[in-house]
Amino acid sequence: MTRFSGWNVFWNGLTGQTGWQRQWRDPEPKPHYDILIVGAGLHGLATAYYLAKNHGLKNIAVLEKGWLGGGNAGRNTTIVRSNYMMPGNREFYEHSLKLWENLSHDLNYNVMFSQRAHVSLLHSPAARDAAARRYNTMRLTGSDGELWNLETLKANVPLLNYSPDARFPITGAAVQRRAGTARHDAVAWGYARAADQLGVDIIQNCEVIGVTRKNGQIENLETSRGSIGAKKIGFAVAGNSSRLWDMAGLGTLPIESHKLQAFVSEPLKPLLDQVVVFGVGGAHFYISQSNKGGMVFGGDLDWYKSYAQRGNLPIVQDVAECAMSILPCLGRVRLLRHWSGVMDMSMDGSPFICKTPLDNLYLNAGWNYGGFKASPASGWYFADLIANDRPHQFIVNHDLKRFERGYNIDERGAGPDPKLHG
Ligand SMILES: Cc1cc2nc3c(=O)[nH]c(=O)nc-3n(C[C@H](O)[C@H](O)[C@H](O)COP(=O)(O)OP(=O)(O)OC[C@H]3O[C@@H](n4cnc5c(N)ncnc54)[C@H](O)[C@@H]3O)c2cc1C
Repeated sequence: MTRFSGWNVFWNGLTGQTGWQRQWRDPEPKPHYDILIVGAGLHGLATAYYLAKNHGLKNIAVLEKGWLGGGNAGRNTTIVRSNYMMPGNREFYEHSLKLWENLSHDLNYNVMFSQRAHVSLLHSPAARDAAARRYNTMRLTGSDGELWNLETLKANVPLLNYSPDARFPITGAAVQRRAGTARHDAVAWGYARAADQLGVDIIQNCEVIGVTRKNGQIENLETSRGSIGAKKIGFAVAGNSSRLWDMAGLGTLPIESHKLQAFVSEPLKPLLDQVVVFGVGGAHFYISQSNKGGMVFGGDLDWYKSYAQRGNLPIVQDVAECAMSILPCLGRVRLLRHWSGVMDMSMDGSPFICKTPLDNLYLNAGWNYGGFKASPASGWYFADLIANDRPHQFIVNHDLKRFERGYNIDERGAGPDPKLHG
């Protein structure tokens, strides 16, 4: 595989771009693997990569029903941050952010990680108190975070609606400077290419349609390309987790699949340097500007369960109202596209990386809105779990039994209502 380097870009520029090779192979599935990962989204691909890289394991395949990166991996608004507070989540997301900081070098693939700062707007003294608690906790535990007063915020993000008569008057912001955005497709392609180089078979157009069990284990996965056996199997299928769980005969998973939409405008000249977020009084909105100039933004879930990857008009209106309330200068900007993904919403808003009732089956699910930023650490710790058959201390409570133990990891304090855990 040709490495990406300044010299290779220069050389190929002189030789008609003829020196590049395929980025990953297109192998036929073998009848048996040591490890099978279902789902070639960010989490499945990252898991396969770290299984091979960190644990030296071979004979691994990733099965994908469509094309790699065609699920939520390629549909998200690409926000990366680690402003989490609950034990376990805090360490996990900070580790993820550290992996992001070196990901392009590690994968030899430019994932366009841009640490442009994540600015959460504050609208009340109570919101400021809550942010102070969270951001102080982050600082005390080795991450970065700061509170901006109105003057600092105006100096850094001048175009917001600062009128005291605004629908949501702004009083300041909580900021993580190391946070930012990355190019989602590039992350999927980078992990795929790096995993392929380490010998992982990535098998696209291979849908798992059934599960054969024997003696408390999975013996074979029945797929659209035949039956494939494995010693260990990991599910990393995000919004389809309940379907796979049901195929494995395991009953009901504490996950609901909900739709989340995202939007991009026509390209504009540079307008917004940071990721800006607000959530108040039922409104929820986040926006950044892509490298091509499009304003990328999103809002709340669709408020009903669905597997449909389609947008709809009520959310267009809701999100446009949020945009206008906070950035009125967007009023005449034209919307280019909008789309939807299927979110795997858990009952406390935190994920599962855990063993399951079947000896050789491992689960990676429950990413809610937040699985893009989590993908490096998710792959890292899921690979560690599969390789060593025990959870790392940071994910020891991210299991399915935490609800039985009364141990919720409820960052937002929203209770057992998945649609409130955005
Ligand atoms: C609109 C939107 C905005 C978002 N914004 C952000 C954000 O700003 N920041 C953030 O951190 N997160 C965000 N997220 C969440 C993030 O995208 C997801 O949590 C994350 O991508 C999920 O993990 P994944 O990439 O592995 O999932 P996916 O890419 O969905 O991967 C799962 C894969 O499994 C495959 N699969 C399913 N069933 C089967 C089967 N039976 N057989 C074989 N393969 C199967 C699917 O085809 C899919 O490719 C957003 C999500 C959406 C939809």
